[in-house]
Amino acid sequence: LEQKLNDPSLLKQAGFINGQWVNAKDGKTFEVFNPAVGEVIANVADLGTKETLQAIEAAQVAFDDWKVVPAKQRSSLLRRWFELVLDHQEDLAVIMTFEQGKVIAESRGEIAYGASYIEWFAEEAKRIYGDVLPSTSADRRSLVIKQPVGVVGAITPWNFPNAMITRKVAPALAAGCTIVLKPAAETPLSALALAELGRRAGIPAGVFNVVVGTDAKAIGAELTSSSIVKKITFTGSTAVGKLLMEQSAKTVKKTSMELGGNAPVLIFEDADLDKAVEGALVAKFRNAGQTCICANRILVQDSIYEEFISRFTARVSEFVLGDGVSSTSTMGPLISRKAVAGVTSLVDDAVSQGAKICIGGSASNNGDHFFQPTVLRDLNTSMRLAKEEVFGPVAPVFMFSSEKEAVDMANDTEFGLAAYMYTKDHSRIWRVGEALEYGMVGINETAISSEMIPFGGVKESGQGREGSKYGLEDYLEVKYFCLGDI
Ligand code: ADP
Repeated sequence: LEQKLNDPSLLKQAGFINGQWVNAKDGKTFEVFNPAVGEVIANVADLGTKETLQAIEAAQVAFDDWKVVPAKQRSSLLRRWFELVLDHQEDLAVIMTFEQGKVIAESRGEIAYGASYIEWFAEEAKRIYGDVLPSTSADRRSLVIKQPVGVVGAITPWNFPNAMITRKVAPALAAGCTIVLKPAAETPLSALALAELGRRAGIPAGVFNVVVGTDAKAIGAELTSSSIVKKITFTGSTAVGKLLMEQSAKTVKKTSMELGGNAPVLIFEDADLDKAVEGALVAKFRNAGQTCICANRILVQDSIYEEFISRFTARVSEFVLGDGVSSTSTMGPLISRKAVAGVTSLVDDAVSQGAKICIGGSASNNGDHFFQPTVLRDLNTSMRLAKEEVFGPVAPVFMFSSEKEAVDMANDTEFGLAAYMYTKDHSRIWRVGEALEYGMVGINETAISSEMIPFGGVKESGQGREGSKYGLEDYLEVKYFCLGDI
């Protein structure tokens, strides 16, 4: 990997605490694998509770200075960080493909997408406004100021090793918070490279700390039990999110949670079918199906079901599985063998209950971590695929007959992150859009995410929003001043 980088010093294998690269006291390290070929690409410091505490204390000390840095200066530092990330886009993309597996074009896209959050919050740092409110009596005035919540603990997943970090760290820093980040152990290198670029941008020591390690439970317990940490922001599974909320309750921390999804794509008979096929394809197979807003269930109206299946399957047959660094690959591996086993068992469950395989249906011989792009038809709601997040390249296509049935099926889940619909009927867009119990609804569009929109879910998909003007609020406290005796 080192030889593939223009700037090999971006490849860091130690934690980053208080502006210093930190190894484990006992010298312990863990291996990072390239999921496409199964090769070890790095040995990273395996830090634990002691180092987490050290990082929390550094963040507390740094907070005193950082919170009073003028917004304009915080903005300039973030802007510089954004520029450095883009200057090193290619190296960061190569690091990402090596540790995560996604195809290089998608990695380049994610670096630009991740950087866009830093740019956005560099701008928003200058727009944290207070308020002057009407009074209840003539001799008093009521004011509101916004202040940073304090030290933030962030825990992020492996599926977007860059963007899931920047959409937390950038608003935190813009608001005046300091942060301790624990990235996923599968993808620590992207996180550490971001920290190195932040350091070069001049972000002060202790403001952005990265604790890398394999004992997520212990690091998470340290972050959630600390009375110094005032907020936990997490992206990952609903099970771990619930646990972190429970642990955070003891010190009444604020929490922001981006959890699992079970996104439906509703395709009505009046849809532009070509656009629906392309939209569903992108929504399902990006990152080999490993995103929380991936189409999990494709719901198609009965009158166009056969036509959709045949066009969609034809497009799916064009994917080229392979190592993400090869420019001919259009889909990479899954993150682990366990992921392949999980997807296999979901497909087997559906097939054993009568689902038919249109294409794919099993692991691929490209390597231990690959699963074939798959389309399944004739599904019913008692199959596990109707309820569980797939996190792999499997598209189950369900059939519905009426609008009401489609909405009921779409909402029949504890999740509520993203939903999509294809229709040309404007009345239906409003009816269905308002009835869908989701935080985000894509209408005739599935590429819905950007730094300028509020990303987040309802129900058990989480709380809080990332990106847009709403994304800063999660890192700010409202303080009311009552001025009397005027
Ligand atoms: P995924 O299925 O995407 O791996 P997880 O929720 O298991 O989802 O992981 C997301 C992040 O949460 C990772 O950084 C992981 O290390 C971390 N994590 C997993 N278990 C715990 C836990 N008990 N406490 C704190 N963090 C955890």
